[in-house]
Amino acid sequence: MTRLDSHLDLYQSLPKVDLHRHLEGSLRLSTLREIARSREYPLPDTGSLPSLVQVQPQDPPTVPNFLSKFQILRQFYRSPQIIQRLTEEVVEDAAADNVVYLELHFTPVALTRQSGFSLAEVMDWVCASAREAATRNQVTVRLIVSANRHEEPMLAAEVVDLALERRRQGIVGVGLAGNEADFGAEAFAPIFRRAHARGMQVTIHAGEWGGADNVRQAITDLKASRIGHGVRILEEPVVVALAREMGTAFEVCLTSNAQTGVVARIEDHPLMAMLEAGLDISLHTDDPAISGITLSGEYRLACETLGMPLATLKERILCAARACYLEASEKDALLTSLRATLDETSP
Ligand SMILES: [Zn+2]
Repeated sequence: MTRLDSHLDLYQSLPKVDLHRHLEGSLRLSTLREIARSREYPLPDTGSLPSLVQVQPQDPPTVPNFLSKFQILRQFYRSPQIIQRLTEEVVEDAAADNVVYLELHFTPVALTRQSGFSLAEVMDWVCASAREAATRNQVTVRLIVSANRHEEPMLAAEVVDLALERRRQGIVGVGLAGNEADFGAEAFAPIFRRAHARGMQVTIHAGEWGGADNVRQAITDLKASRIGHGVRILEEPVVVALAREMGTAFEVCLTSNAQTGVVARIEDHPLMAMLEAGLDISLHTDDPAISGITLSGEYRLACETLGMPLATLKERILCAARACYLEASEKDALLTSLRATLDETSP
């Protein structure tokens, strides 16, 4: 075993909490190949699949390049069986990386488009498949229903209403993702405020491809308790102060930020500066398949490339659990179990 492998083993052995992993960005290449080969669909040639659905070293580190992968992936959602299988495999892959608690984000609109399914039916398929896979893999899974900034607010309103009706099926939150570089969130604010008023948790992608004011807007106008990414918050000390005061948690995804050009290199990532500024940060994956990563690998980057001490990483895993959207008693049980396992993990 090389030194590098032995180090990855250490990170793999840690129990993990992933609060920011998108179903549509987590599909196995081997399964996509199988679907492309076995069906009479006009799907991309299997030889060119990796470059179409995964970020390649030669790709430009841009938002359009990153988002283009999702457009190709939408072509694969052809049947209920495919959507169910993809959901089950995402949960299985998270469990294999020792994720003990997963909040899986999914975008119903993306899943309906190719075959004209209804939003309600794809949501039911994902809920049922995630629940079964969670039991089979002994991992706790909850769901966050996501809408895109670059799509119609009317669709987001419909999706949020359907999410509210499905809280008993494992949906714990609603989120806003998509193209922050070119689309604002103003039109979505009433939708997320209404969801929040009805007891739904809100997490908003902001301060990723847009500036710190988008983080302020997400917290004050959209009632976000968590921010997806938020790494540009440091540009505005007043927004940093607001996030600290509100106890906002930040779902930081290192490799994703490098691949979309938020940072030029991982070495330039402001993860440690965010921590020093007193922000409640923790580490997550975003789109493991598109990015070609695992959460273990992201933990290793934080420690070995950005200098996060292992003890701090362990604290951050507990912070992620505190920021999760489980009911209070379930959250307490998760924290107790994590503390016990993290204490056992050397060094
Ligand atoms: Zn994301």
